[in-house]
Amino acid sequence: MQFLTLIQYFERLEATAKRLDIFEILAALFRLSNTSEIDKIIYLLQEQLLPSFYTVEMGMSEKLLIRSIADASGKNLSEIHQHFQASGDLGKTTECFLSAQLGTNLDVHTVYSQLRRLAELSGEGSVENKVEALAALLQSATPTEAKYISRFVVGRMRLGTGNASILEALSLAKTGERKPKAILERGFNLCSDLGMVGRILFSDGIAGIEKIRPTVGSPIRMALCERITTPEDVIKKIGRCSIEPKLDGFRCQIHKSEGKVEIFSRNLERTTLMFPELVQATKTAINAKSIIFEGEALSYDDRTGELHPFQVTIQRKRKHGIAKAATDIPLKLFAFDLLYANGNDWTNRSYADRRKLLGSLITDNSVIELAHADETDDPIEFSRIFQTAIDEGAEGVVAKRLDGPYKAGARDFNWIKLKRSYKRTLADTVDVCLVGYFNGKGTRAAFGIGAVLATVYDPNTDTFKTVSRIGSGFSEKDWVCLRKVLDFNASNSIPPRVVSTLTPDVWVHPHTVITVMADEITRSAMHTCGKDANGIGYALRFPRAQGFIRNDKNPEDTTTVAEIVRMSENQKLIKLG
Ligand code: ATP
Repeated sequence: MQFLTLIQYFERLEATAKRLDIFEILAALFRLSNTSEIDKIIYLLQEQLLPSFYTVEMGMSEKLLIRSIADASGKNLSEIHQHFQASGDLGKTTECFLSAQLGTNLDVHTVYSQLRRLAELSGEGSVENKVEALAALLQSATPTEAKYISRFVVGRMRLGTGNASILEALSLAKTGERKPKAILERGFNLCSDLGMVGRILFSDGIAGIEKIRPTVGSPIRMALCERITTPEDVIKKIGRCSIEPKLDGFRCQIHKSEGKVEIFSRNLERTTLMFPELVQATKTAINAKSIIFEGEALSYDDRTGELHPFQVTIQRKRKHGIAKAATDIPLKLFAFDLLYANGNDWTNRSYADRRKLLGSLITDNSVIELAHADETDDPIEFSRIFQTAIDEGAEGVVAKRLDGPYKAGARDFNWIKLKRSYKRTLADTVDVCLVGYFNGKGTRAAFGIGAVLATVYDPNTDTFKTVSRIGSGFSEKDWVCLRKVLDFNASNSIPPRVVSTLTPDVWVHPHTVITVMADEITRSAMHTCGKDANGIGYALRFPRAQGFIRNDKNPEDTTTVAEIVRMSENQKLIKLG
């Protein structure tokens, strides 16, 4: 495909915020694509060269891009800088300075491989080489192509295409069905690589997707918990179950094959280098040639058996001084699931079987230990186990269905969490994605921000729906920092996939996730979350931010509309009871 053709689709995507339009445009684009380029097209739509666990980064700042534009156009830096100050968009600035170019008929393959080459330049002199290579690429492009290349390299494309929309459009383009088959979703959940799913679907159809299996080295999208607020209701829902403490640390998915170990975080980033003691223990204390297993890693006092709070564990999240931190704050991994062992996929086996095998593979408990678990079908016993877990420093418990499979990428009732906070205010905190902010009044006027517009995710429509306006819980320092982050993601109009009846002073692309606590959930005509036929949705009452930006969460990881509706119903039950 000519790169210019792809750009025309980017322009159409940019011009709409309607989810249905986005979906139709993507499906039309995929129908035009061939097997050798579909993966590249998907990655470019996702604003990446490869999934993040490959750790291939562009490594281009705005400053370096300005130097490339100068090289390509022959204009001086200050002129370009000035234009950028006025336009606020380096894409538009590039287009303007290269407006006389005719282009060289670039195709998708060429642009993608040049960008990959640029990203992979490293070592001495690589900065200069990157600037030069990008200038050459910009020079070979038409002005419109150059606009998008510039936006891509600094991560500012903002096409608004979520994974769910891409998956749906792939399904329609290739199988004629709009709702992706469960098998297509499972394929993606097992490999976490939409480009690869596209490539296999194009070359081998659904039969090829069916063959996707867990692969050591490729992270599997992680299973998550549903919420239920009382032990009685948990047992009603899943019967006799296993109850594990919900520990507050880092979720680790650990892969080992032939002595090589990789660790992935909750949002599939590679964290191997951060946790050397876990790498070492996986090599020596896990009796399997190849394995994928999961657990929660946290700082822990071996002598007293005391779990340290998250504020201690979080200090291990660092890029420098790793060896010293590992000595000062050693981690212990409480292993709770097994996904793959010695060549066999275990994700479809029962929880009970997976746990049994996992326990038998751990040969030394000093760094990796099987997570504690109790089994019961008695609500009173359940409450006692819950209380013991809290007393020992856990944030709650996770109840697990004994015959449940490991459902990659799913939040369902195979795992149910009960947290301590259920008993206080609202059942659990809510993770929200910010899509705008309101200018401050009074003392906040100085910050230019006084409240944020928060949304939750609707996976059925791949949209973000408003649930609250949040103005408390942030310190002065937080507001300043928050505004900077939000301004970086600002949008001139309502961003794609956002559904809102409120209009904030500044719209922001869905990117920033925060956790909030609230007193309760009320019905409200102001918000679009769970809106019914009468136009009445759901809203958080007395919301307040907890902590700060959740860099470990993607926008699609926020609480869902369905969860909010369920939380609202649960609170009714509690009130009635
Ligand atoms: P939260 O924001 O409440 O920590 P979350 O949205 O990240 O939760 P949930 O599905 O609510 O994810 O809870 C699952 C998380 O709980 C896991 O990602 C994991 O890090 C943590 N966890 C701690 N102990 C366990 C356990 N025994 N089994 C499963 N998950 C556990």
